[in-house]
Amino acid sequence: MSTRGPRLVLLGKQGAGKGTQATRLADHYKVAHLSTGDLFRDAANFGHELGLEAKSFMDRGELVPDETVVGLVAEHLGIDDRAARGFVLDGFPRTRRQAEELRRILDGRPLDLAIDLDVPTEIVLRRIAGRRVFAQCGALYHVENPPKENWTCDACGGRVVQRDDDTEEAVMRRLELYEVETLPVIQFYRRAATLAHVDGSEETDDVFKQLVETVEAQFDPTKP
Ligand code: ADP
Repeated sequence: MSTRGPRLVLLGKQGAGKGTQATRLADHYKVAHLSTGDLFRDAANFGHELGLEAKSFMDRGELVPDETVVGLVAEHLGIDDRAARGFVLDGFPRTRRQAEELRRILDGRPLDLAIDLDVPTEIVLRRIAGRRVFAQCGALYHVENPPKENWTCDACGGRVVQRDDDTEEAVMRRLELYEVETLPVIQFYRRAATLAHVDGSEETDDVFKQLVETVEAQFDPTKP
């Protein structure tokens, strides 16, 4: 019998831990992890036109236009038949229109689950204020959990910095857009009965355990 990995969407506010947990879930289920934020940051670092265009929106905390994001996701889900084999989407869909487009891209292969990683706003604000990243390898640190040596990345030795869009202004704008644009996405999946909630304010390992339990309760690998 042929089996596949789960098709998952991880939803949640900025700083809810989507990136960390999506990486772990993708590793666990051996499926692709697609973070639209990371794809745009990579494209900008390489000086690609798409990335530079996206960066002008990202640095202000605005959303990149739907057509651009949808095109990028469609392209990446097409690689190695990921749409069929399974994936974890992190940071997409972020508007109702993107959720509808995702359904179209999947073309009859339904999502297994959209999980809302729930964290109160006062906690995400504290997490983001202290968040530090290394852009090239995506390693994440926090002022209370710095790399071993003088703010250089443990994994690859590069300099660890604050993200350009982790300024107070851009963060407030992103959270505002989350309320306006992304809460309707949660509503969209609630109506489609593919929504689950996990408390993301616990320790990372506990959140991961909860996520796996939630996926296991819903996912049937023998269903195409
Ligand atoms: P965060 O969740 O902290 O905003 P991400 O790394 O997921 O961080 O995204 C960073 C930025 O990339 C967003 O503020 C937005 O400008 C852009 N972006 C990422 N995903 C999308 C998306 N699905 N739709 C529109 N813009 C996006």
